[in-house]
Amino acid sequence: MRTPFISANWKMNKTVDETVTFFKEFIPLVNDAKDVDIVIAPPFTSLQAAASIIKGTNISLAAQNVHFQEKGAYTGEISPVMLSEIGCSFVIIGHSERRQYFFETDEMVNKKIQTARKYGLDVIVCVGESLQEREAGKTFEVLKRQVVSGLKDIPSDSLVIAYEPIWAIGTGKTATTEQAQEAHNFIRDQLSALYPEASKEIRILYGGSVTPDNIDALMACPDVDGALVGGASLKAESFAKIVNFKRSL
Ligand code: PEP
Repeated sequence: MRTPFISANWKMNKTVDETVTFFKEFIPLVNDAKDVDIVIAPPFTSLQAAASIIKGTNISLAAQNVHFQEKGAYTGEISPVMLSEIGCSFVIIGHSERRQYFFETDEMVNKKIQTARKYGLDVIVCVGESLQEREAGKTFEVLKRQVVSGLKDIPSDSLVIAYEPIWAIGTGKTATTEQAQEAHNFIRDQLSALYPEASKEIRILYGGSVTPDNIDALMACPDVDGALVGGASLKAESFAKIVNFKRSL
């Protein structure tokens, strides 16, 4: 049985003040949420404030990125040691915006996962195809490459994968439940080749224009185990509705 996993990715949004305001409204709305892992990834500057305000709640903290070295001359970068110390349990690695705007490769993603794991951070590894790749019939080829290269020599424990079709991110164009299930099922097949036993336990999240209106249908797909939510996670009320999605019987 895979516990549902709902994560916010705030990207480059919210000051410290706005972060505190969000949590004051959000915490009471999800206090009673059971059998769901709730994770929030604020920008680096808000991690400290978020860490103190979520203490004792059912919410965990994620960073949106990490460097693959533990320390050194990497101006502007943040190491996994720093993230663990500040109270992060997770880190998002390989988000398509990092791949696209900051030229992160599968090899870099793999190195980041290795270092993050070494310092006790669990990882949410993002994979997903562009519209051009989908239209060229290359979706499975891209997903296979990202999964196989990204997870090379990585143990399976506490791994979370996020399938985020790039054409659905921030566009309001969600994948249909059929498209999501097909991709998730394909990813699970790739995982079972890497981790024959553990693949059934690995959570695969869907990301791409998730809202309170489409979460129930997505979560009803057999291989969709949660969501990585951008835009709709910025408002406490809408993200709480996603966390409190309706379970299908
Ligand atoms: C994301 O960036 O991870 C994301 C899924 O964004 P949105 O929900 O806004 O599409």
